Amino acid sequence: MERDEVLPVLYDLAVTIGSEISVKPLLTRTLQRLLYHTSFSAGFICLDVPECADADGEIEVRLDAVVGDFDLLGLIGRPVVLPCALLSHLAGRETDQAALLSSLRCTLTQYKSFLRLPLGQGGVIVLLAAEIPETTLPLTTMLQPVLEHLAKAIVLCRNNEAYTSGLLAQRYKLEEVFESSYSGVMITDAQANIVETNPAFTRITGFSPEEVRGRDPRMLSSGLHDHGFYSEMWNGILKDGHWEGEVLNRRKTGEVYPCWLTINQVRDKAGELLNYVGMISDISQRKEAEAQIHQLAFYDSLTGLPNRRLLVERLLQSFSQGARNGRHGAVLLLDLDGFKAINDTKGLETGDQLLVETGKRLKDCVSDGDTVARLGGDEFVVVLDALSERTEEAAAQADKAAELIRVELSRPYQLDGHVIHTTPSIGVVLFRGHQQSLDDVLKHVDAAMYQAKKAGRNTIRFYDPEMQAAMEARADLEEDLRHALELNQLQLYFQVQVDSRSRPLGAEALLRWQHPERGLISPASFIPLAEETGLIVPIGQWVLRSACEQLKRWQHDAVLRDLTVAVNVSARQFRQPDFVIQVQRDLIGSGAKPSMLKLELTESTVLENVEDTIARMGELKLLGLSFSMDDFGTGYSSLQYLKRLPLDQIKIDQSFVRDIASDPNDAAIVQTIIAMSEVLGLNVIAEGVETEDQREFLDRRGCHAFQGFLFGRPLPLREFEAQLKV
Ligand code: C2E
Ligand code: MG
Ligand code: MG
Repeated sequence: MERDEVLPVLYDLAVTIGSEISVKPLLTRTLQRLLYHTSFSAGFICLDVPECADADGEIEVRLDAVVGDFDLLGLIGRPVVLPCALLSHLAGRETDQAALLSSLRCTLTQYKSFLRLPLGQGGVIVLLAAEIPETTLPLTTMLQPVLEHLAKAIVLCRNNEAYTSGLLAQRYKLEEVFESSYSGVMITDAQANIVETNPAFTRITGFSPEEVRGRDPRMLSSGLHDHGFYSEMWNGILKDGHWEGEVLNRRKTGEVYPCWLTINQVRDKAGELLNYVGMISDISQRKEAEAQIHQLAFYDSLTGLPNRRLLVERLLQSFSQGARNGRHGAVLLLDLDGFKAINDTKGLETGDQLLVETGKRLKDCVSDGDTVARLGGDEFVVVLDALSERTEEAAAQADKAAELIRVELSRPYQLDGHVIHTTPSIGVVLFRGHQQSLDDVLKHVDAAMYQAKKAGRNTIRFYDPEMQAAMEARADLEEDLRHALELNQLQLYFQVQVDSRSRPLGAEALLRWQHPERGLISPASFIPLAEETGLIVPIGQWVLRSACEQLKRWQHDAVLRDLTVAVNVSARQFRQPDFVIQVQRDLIGSGAKPSMLKLELTESTVLENVEDTIARMGELKLLGLSFSMDDFGTGYSSLQYLKRLPLDQIKIDQSFVRDIASDPNDAAIVQTIIAMSEVLGLNVIAEGVETEDQREFLDRRGCHAFQGFLFGRPLPLREFEAQLKV
C-alpha cells in the first residue's frame, strides 16, 4: 500500500465502522475491510483480553470476530487458548512471529506473520498472513485514528445491545401481548432506530422485522405531513415523554393509510432514556366507515351531490367568509320545468338519469369551489362565493352564472334513446355575511324561484325586498284566513241578476271577509290564497250551506221566494270526493228547493278533468240544481266540451262586456257567445253590466239576463233585501 492510498482506506474504514449499530457486524465488517486493504489473509478480534501474567505463556480468550480462517470461524464465541505474545505487546519481547504462529493449535493454516492492533480497554485485533507482508508503512500508527473510532463504536454498540437485551428481558413477560397485539408495536433504541417490531406491525406496514431493524421510523411516513407536524410530535415526546395522534403513513406497497400513533419513552430507574415504543393502529377501515356514513348523511345518493344538510353547512361557511371579506355570495334555486310530466311519461328511470345529468351540467357550469346541491325532487341549489363587494356588480355576476346555467340546462338531453327537452326556472338571492338569516335566504330564494315559474318558466328571477314584503303580507293573510271562519269574519253579499225589464231573477252570492284591521277584503285577494292552502274547502262548504239556508228563508217571503241563488264553486272544492254528498246534505239539511240553487263553475275547473266533471255534474243535476259557466270566454271555450257538459247557463265575462260598445272585437266575441248558447240550448247572462248602452247592446243581440252595478252592487243581506222590496 502506497502512502497516497492511505486516506481513502481510512475513510472507508471509518464509514464502515460508523454504519454499524451492533457489535458483531461491526467487528466482522471492520475486519473484512482491514483485510481488503492490506495483504493479510485472515484475522480475529478479541474484545476482552485479560492481563497476561506470564509473557511467554498462554491465555484463554474468547474470539469475538473472525474473518478468513475456517478453523477459527468455528470457534467464535468460545474460549480459545492463545499465546500471550500474540495478544499483547506488553506481554514481552518481540519474538519470531513465524515461530510463535507455528505453535497455534486452533487453526491448521500455517501463518508466518501477524499484525497486532490494540483496541483499548483490553481489546485487540490480530491480522494473520501466510507470507511476511511487504509494507513500507507503519500500519499500526497509520490505523490509529480508525482504531480509536472503532473502540468508541464498540462501546456504543455494546451499550446499545445491553439496553436492548435488558428491554427484551423486560419484554419477555409481555411477549405474548406483543406478539398477539392487534396494534402494530415498534420498539426503537434511544436514538430512535427500530430494534423490534411485532407481527401486527408487519401486517399493517408490510415491512418484516428484518427490513426495518436498525432503521429510522421515518421510513414509514407518507411524506404528506410537513416538517412542522413532526417537530410538534417530537416536542411532545421530549416534553411529556408521550405523544399520540393521527398520522398518515405509507405501507410498503406505497399505499397511504391513516393510523393512530402512540409514542412513549421508556426510561430506566435512573431516568436514562432506553427506548421509544410506538403503537400503530390502522384506522383506515374506521375512516372508510366514517367516510361512508358521511357520504350517506351529507350527500344525495342519486346524484352524489351535497344534500340539504351539507348545503346548510356550506351556506353558513359562505356567510362567515362573506362577513370576513366583505364580498357578496349568491344562492340559486332551480327547478326543472315539467319534470313531473317527464317522469310520468318517460318513466322514473329516465327521470333519474335526467337528474344525474342535470347535476353534472350544473357542476360544469360553476367553479370548483362553488357548491351544487340537490334538495330532492328536481330542485337543485347552487351557491356562488366571492362575488363582488358592490351589490349591482355582484347581481350582474350572479345573473351571468344563472344565465349560463339556464342555457346549459335547456340543451336537449340524450337519455337512453330518448331526447328530452326541459328548461329550468331559477330564483336568485344575493347575500353578504350574516345580514340575512339562513332561513330568510332560503325563503327568499324560494320566493324568487316561484316568481320565475310564474313568469313563464325558463326564466331567472331575483329576489327583491318588495317581493318579500308582498310574500310576508301573504303569509300574514294566510294565518288570519285560517281563523276567519271560526271568528265569524266571513259574510255573504248578494248581487242581483235581472231580466230585460230589470225584474229580479236571482242573486249571486259573493263572499266578503270582514277583517278586524284591514276592513273588507275582496274575494279576489283571498280566494286564490284559500285555494292554494286548501282553506277553500271549509270556506266553500260554509258558503254553500249559508246560501242554502238563505234560500230556505226566502221561500217564506212573497217577494224573494222566486229568486235563484248562484254560488261560486272553486275547482278544489268541486273535486272533493264527497262534494256531491255535501251539496245533497246542505239541500236536505236546509230544506231549500234544489231548483233555486245554481252552481257557478269556471272553464278551468271544468277542463281539469272533463270526464269526471261530466259525471259529477250529472249526479248533481239529479238533485235538481242547475249550472252556470262563469267567466265564459276567458278560457279555452270549445264547442267540443261545451256540447257534452250538462250546463244550463253561460255567463259572459265582464271583460267583454266592458268595451262591448267601443271594441268591435269584444262585440264580435259576445255575439258569438250568444249565438253559440242559442245553438246549444243554453240561456245566457252577462255580468259586469254598468251602463245602459251595454245593457241595450246585449239585449238587442239576444242576451236578456244581466248582472252588474247598473242594477245593483253586491250588498249585505239586509240591504239586498231592502233593495228588492222598494
Ligand atoms: P265572479 O264570480 O265572476 O263574480 C263577479 C265579480 O264581479 C264580483 O266580484 C262582483 O262584485 C263583480 N261585479 C259585479 N258587477 C260588476 C260591475 O258592474 N262592474 C265590475 N267592475 N265588477 C262587477 P267579487 O265579489 O270581488 O268576486 C270576485 C270573484 O271572487 C268572483 O268572480 C268569484 O270568482 C270569486 N268568489 C266570490 N265569492 C266566492 C265564493 O263564495 N266562492 C268562490 N269559490 N269564489 C268566490
Ligand atoms: Mg261568479
Ligand atoms: Mg264572473
